[in-house]
Amino acid sequence: MSKIHNFSAGPCILPQEVLKEASEAVKEWGDNGLSLIEMSHRSKPFIAVMEETRALTKELLGLPDRFEILYLQGGASLAFLTAAYNLIPEGGSAAYSDTGTWANKSIKEAKHAGNIEVVASSKDSGYKSIPPTPKVDSKHSFFHYTTNNTIFGTQYKGIPTEAGVPLVADMSSDIMSKKFDSSPFQLIYAGAQKNMGPAGTVMYAIDKDVLGKSGRNIPSYLDLGVHLSKDSMFNTPPVFSVFTTLLTLRWLRDLGGVEAIEARNNAKAEFIYNEIDRNPLFKGHAEIDSRSTMNATFMLNDESHKDAFNAAWAAAGISGINGHRSIGGYRASMYNALPLESVGVLVDVMKEFERTI
Ligand SMILES: *Cc1c(COP(=O)(O)O)cnc(C)c1O
Repeated sequence: MSKIHNFSAGPCILPQEVLKEASEAVKEWGDNGLSLIEMSHRSKPFIAVMEETRALTKELLGLPDRFEILYLQGGASLAFLTAAYNLIPEGGSAAYSDTGTWANKSIKEAKHAGNIEVVASSKDSGYKSIPPTPKVDSKHSFFHYTTNNTIFGTQYKGIPTEAGVPLVADMSSDIMSKKFDSSPFQLIYAGAQKNMGPAGTVMYAIDKDVLGKSGRNIPSYLDLGVHLSKDSMFNTPPVFSVFTTLLTLRWLRDLGGVEAIEARNNAKAEFIYNEIDRNPLFKGHAEIDSRSTMNATFMLNDESHKDAFNAAWAAAGISGINGHRSIGGYRASMYNALPLESVGVLVDVMKEFERTI
């Protein structure tokens, strides 16, 4: 077992048992006599992996039958474009929320496929909060938002149904961390590398009834209908990423699913935020009502304590809590696989630092 408390923002901590099983499969996968990564993706065992991964994703997210699951390449960064291409008709438009770096990237890419109107933004407050969602003009095909903003440590607390149009969301950094009502959504996508598995694959949950309705000629790899018609095997899938995602999803199912992990995630978030608010040496970065349960951002009140604090957490075996270079300070990322004990170690370091500084 690793003694490092891994608070990395992504790629990030995965369950130890998943790492063990995945590494064994790379050497020799079950009784197949071959490594997982030297077998045909068209082989029966791998097709079974892809099918179970798609089905288990749907089950854990509680998605109804209108949704189909795809595991593709290109990460969320390609999904920014794919989403717009598949859902905005030629000459059409969509409404976007601007809540920080990833949201900005989604807007930039979507502009290749349609007229994009930013209808909500927290730019003026330095992205420390989640902006209110306005009623969106029905000419827009959808309202797109980023559920959790990894860099600034903010998170939508509810589903912005006030928009009044179908929703599309980048859930890369809080997928599988809490329950949500999928009924207003047409498309959800998420890079696997935070709560679902290793880097290399991105999950799409698409309402199959909206596919093929945009009337546009979409390049094959960007066309979700093409991927769906091939059962997520239009081209060679990222076999290791999909397999390891499956192991992570089984781990989640076996511990009680999304509802069980949500309770753990809430406990971890409460633990760290209570300490940030109590300890006079620190202050939180995001506004309280917009705080993320996945990424807690905080600062030292007195920057001259920086070197001493950095030495203290490093000595405790903590890794990955430096804030994103664009905002500085600290960021404790507490994805599904991070145990409560690791948060306890960080809280103890903060308490001890207060006593000794
Ligand atoms: C990490 C992250 C991404 C990552 O995109 P990739 O292309 O998969 O690297 C996108 N959006 C959000 C909100 C993220 O947190």
